[in-house]
Amino acid sequence: MTHIITSLCLRDAGCVDVCPVECIVPGKPQEEWPWFYIDPDTCIDCGACIPECPFEAIFPEDEVPTAYTAKGGEYISNIGLKGHYEGTNHHGEQVVLDSVRQLAAGEVVDLSPDIKPNYDYFTQGTGYKALE
Ligand code: SF4
Ligand code: SF4
Repeated sequence: MTHIITSLCLRDAGCVDVCPVECIVPGKPQEEWPWFYIDPDTCIDCGACIPECPFEAIFPEDEVPTAYTAKGGEYISNIGLKGHYEGTNHHGEQVVLDSVRQLAAGEVVDLSPDIKPNYDYFTQGTGYKALE
């Protein structure tokens, strides 16, 4: 198994610092790979990254919610969305995203389609280069 970063990720980067096997990398280019991604072949399922994420975006693969109920105000980030987000990441650097949508309280979202990109990034994306 592996842990999975979902579309609730707003590129805060805090998780990267705590991963003991350095298997979390930022998606590049950001327009095509909007989140950070976990290399499924390297992740040891230690769970250290989960409490570091301010947006609660990380789940064990078998616990990724198919019906995530929004608290309200959080964002999902995905290709094709049109909303704008600006924030500051864990290291005090600016984060600007132009493909987000803010969720309404009680809105239910299936996050399970977010599993596949965590695999694809390391086979089809530039993830394999990021880990070299
Ligand atoms: S801490 Fe959360 S928001 Fe930040 S990069 Fe990791 S998964 Fe994404
Ligand atoms: S579960 Fe552990 S090994 Fe896997 S990405 Fe998170 S911190 Fe890294």
